[in-house]
Amino acid sequence: STKQQALFIIFGGTGDLAKRKLYPALFALYQKGIINEHFAVIGTARRPWTDQHFQAVVQESLPDAKAAVAKKFAAHFYYQSHNVNDTEHYVTLKKLAQNLDEKYQIGGNRLFYLAMSPRFFGTIAQHLKSQAIVTADGYNRVIIEKPFGHDYASAAELNQSISKYFSEDDVFRIDHYLGKEMVQNILAIRFGNNIFNSLWNNRYIDNLQITLSESLGVEERAGYYETAGALRDMVQNHILQIVSLLTMKMPTTYSETDIRREKICALKSLKVYQPQEVATNFVRAQYQAAAGLKGYRQEDQIAPDSQTETFVAGKLLVASENFAGVPIYIRTGKRLRQKATRIDVVFKTVPGDIFAKQDLADNILTIEVEPEGKVSLQLNVKKIGQGYQLQEQQLDLSPENRNGEQIPEAYEKLLLDALMGDATNFTHWEEVAYSWKFVDAIRQAWDQSQQPLAEYPCGSMGPKQADELLTKDHRHWIYK
Ligand code: NAD
Repeated sequence: STKQQALFIIFGGTGDLAKRKLYPALFALYQKGIINEHFAVIGTARRPWTDQHFQAVVQESLPDAKAAVAKKFAAHFYYQSHNVNDTEHYVTLKKLAQNLDEKYQIGGNRLFYLAMSPRFFGTIAQHLKSQAIVTADGYNRVIIEKPFGHDYASAAELNQSISKYFSEDDVFRIDHYLGKEMVQNILAIRFGNNIFNSLWNNRYIDNLQITLSESLGVEERAGYYETAGALRDMVQNHILQIVSLLTMKMPTTYSETDIRREKICALKSLKVYQPQEVATNFVRAQYQAAAGLKGYRQEDQIAPDSQTETFVAGKLLVASENFAGVPIYIRTGKRLRQKATRIDVVFKTVPGDIFAKQDLADNILTIEVEPEGKVSLQLNVKKIGQGYQLQEQQLDLSPENRNGEQIPEAYEKLLLDALMGDATNFTHWEEVAYSWKFVDAIRQAWDQSQQPLAEYPCGSMGPKQADELLTKDHRHWIYK
């Protein structure tokens, strides 16, 4: 990639996300020479830090870096104590931004990264315009973290508060799953291979399965999680994004506009459930104490009678020409047996099995997003030797890493995309809107339901109800 020049202004520069993800991602771009001389970062937050302290924090966020390089990199970082509601602070911020733009010859390109509570986004967007922190000679892009709203209504309100000041083209809504190598691989597998492209429909696919399991519990984000739950925290964004990539039609070209157009259509095609359909197609559950780990309701800051789900499983249907009738089973939860992100595409069995004495294994395309980027296809082959027996075999389709390149972190790739103005791997407002409409119907049915939450022990793969969701359809989870 060519060299980039930009001034980053990070709101929430002292936060956890900034330290764990943003500074290491910027450093990776720095080491590759993509950002080099003509860049600077202003971190803002309420704490009264000095530039020196900020630079030390940035260096600490890069434990593997060579000290001298990290120091040179961190010298591009400046701190401003800033209360987002205080207009005066934006006046100071503007001056600092102008100075740095001149000092580093940046040419007016600005990226505003909103890494703090979404309730401040509207105020920030407004002040960036009214206090003329946006420039006339470069681009002005806003990068926004999740959660984008709490339901459709609040998301629409949030979107309006931003779109008053920034056009959709300049708004980059992060869903970091879209920066993951194997999630990006979905379109290559589907649209780069006629053997998959031509079979990718309800005549040949029996069902799709998506699992996003976490082994951690609620950890430090309890306050937020209590108000969100697994459905809002994981399904509305990450899982539905994966669903859209798996079910969208082939875009006219591999480009931002065409890809996002088809993803919007895919999300619009999701069947929005009636309350009684939610009861039969969705399962919610909470983790219970086991293996020396606390149950959800015993965690700090969690209500002892909390109704927040830490696990959700569901069966989705898509009303599209190619996917009508193909169930999409999804599940996600905390305190599950292991951290994994995995997609299984289960193909239908061969009509008229001639190997009457033997059951054929299903053809399954598996994409392991995490922990390791692996793709495999399960096939049937003849067992070597006398007689005629079949055996199942895995065909490894994992991308060969020909240059021995280190796989970039999602945030690194997404930050570079934002620098280049490429929003292909960011969510369009309409994707967010249709996702919330689907999720809201489930949430509303749950809020009105008297049915207690299901339970699962820490370290398991979820409640038995999540297995029953498939067994009642004569299917089972491929990933156990
Ligand atoms: P955090 O609580 O660690 O940091 C919040 C930041 O906002 C701090 O720098 C704080 O000083 C600043 N802040 C709060 N009120 C302010 C005010 N009135 N004026 C100025 N600054 C103020 O939060 P985080 O974990 O870094 O998350 C930031 C955002 O990213 C949130 O929207 C969160 O939902 C999202 N996010 C975080 C993670 C993660 O792993 N931490 C993952 C996904 C999304």
